[in-house]
Amino acid sequence: MSDLFQAARPPMTTEVLTVQPQAPALEALRRAAAILQRGGLVAFPTETVYGLGANALDADACARIFAAKGRPAHNPIIVHVADAASVLPLVAAWPEQAERLAQRFWPGPLTLVLPRSDRVPSIVTAGGPTVAVRVPAHPVALALLRESSLPIAAPSANRSMQLSPTTAEHVVQSLNGRIDLILDGGPATGGLESTVLDLSRQPPVLLRPGLVTVAELESIIGAVVLPMHASAPTAAPLPSPGMLPRHYAPRTPLIAIEGNATDEATRRRAAGQRVACVRFGPSSADALPVERQVDLPGEPAGSAARLYAVLHELDALGLDAILVELPPATQEWLAVRDRLRRAAAR
Ligand code: AMP
Ligand code: MG
Repeated sequence: MSDLFQAARPPMTTEVLTVQPQAPALEALRRAAAILQRGGLVAFPTETVYGLGANALDADACARIFAAKGRPAHNPIIVHVADAASVLPLVAAWPEQAERLAQRFWPGPLTLVLPRSDRVPSIVTAGGPTVAVRVPAHPVALALLRESSLPIAAPSANRSMQLSPTTAEHVVQSLNGRIDLILDGGPATGGLESTVLDLSRQPPVLLRPGLVTVAELESIIGAVVLPMHASAPTAAPLPSPGMLPRHYAPRTPLIAIEGNATDEATRRRAAGQRVACVRFGPSSADALPVERQVDLPGEPAGSAARLYAVLHELDALGLDAILVELPPATQEWLAVRDRLRRAAAR
């Protein structure tokens, strides 16, 4: 495999093209599409986080994603398509549940796992019998899919195990010189990765909570089985090859706290540590004995939109720890709690 990466080694410095998020220039899209068509790597904004894209039908190009990210080969990649019809060549079945969910949530932050067709290279599915697909809602992502006329395999545009990127700058920090091009379309608005739902099993299994909530899914297709990670991150076998207990993590140790962080902050300060604290909502609005305190909105979508950007910013301060007061253990906070628990796992 290494020969192949040598042959198509990306430039020392990754090119960044700024595009208007709502109306990306055709010239930039053509350049990005040409790179994808010849097997290169392009990072682009989606409505969740920035994705690192390659031609999903080109096994060598997809291998470059794994190389650039340092991603383990057992972690499959989501395939992005321009519309629901473009999924059909990639799957061996398109059940009624998929049709209903696609009509309701696509374009949008919902990924469906379905039996794969022979056209999907096995590197994309990590050798498994299923493929994960979604139609992104971001105008730049959609325009790139249309311009390239390709399904685009795209995990988050960061080195494996690091925080997901919500700006082009985050992508530069993580992948500069390892990929060909970044389309800078401003901040990714949703801020958290997509919901992943496995429709190859019945009842469907939620593999990753995300911006589409369980309640929304159940209102369309009835009962969905919840991930064991929601309540006990390491208690049971992993439900999906990529659902590693530790993921989405800053370099600074992240300490997830149920309830109030004051005692922990006080204890650490007494021990000479410099720490930051992140809280959700005004419930405990008094100041803490910390270097930096960030109060996120007490509402899931608003908090999700800012969470990674805040963690990137705090991580850059080189503190001893980031304390996070976990939001309530309710369904609406499932995705935010899931990411924070993974970021805290050591
Ligand atoms: P990311 O790398 O952030 O895009 O995450 C992709 C997520 O989708 C990972 O958690 C993967 O395990 C999951 N995923 C992708 N493809 C599949 C698949 N075929 N079956 C199950 N999970 C998948
Ligand atoms: Mg990722």
